[in-house]
Amino acid sequence: MTTRDLYIATLAPGRAVPTLLCGHCNSILSRTRMFRNDNQDRYDVGCQTIALCSADDCGAVNSCDAAIAALDSPDEMKEIAS
Ligand SMILES: [Zn+2]
Repeated sequence: MTTRDLYIATLAPGRAVPTLLCGHCNSILSRTRMFRNDNQDRYDVGCQTIALCSADDCGAVNSCDAAIAALDSPDEMKEIAS
């Protein structure tokens, strides 16, 4: 893969536990595959939090900024399903 497309993670509606979905295949993005993009923009995507989709045949790079911004509070990020 020479270039990576950036997808926008979405917040799954109606869940008690905040759940982010891959913007490409709608799989649940595990918190264990999310990381801060501070200082080392390794994917050159210019967003603060990114998540890599773990679904087979996907592996999309997702920007989580919009989904996290949609949370009621940033603390909820700690509760994101993993
Ligand atoms: Zn995916």
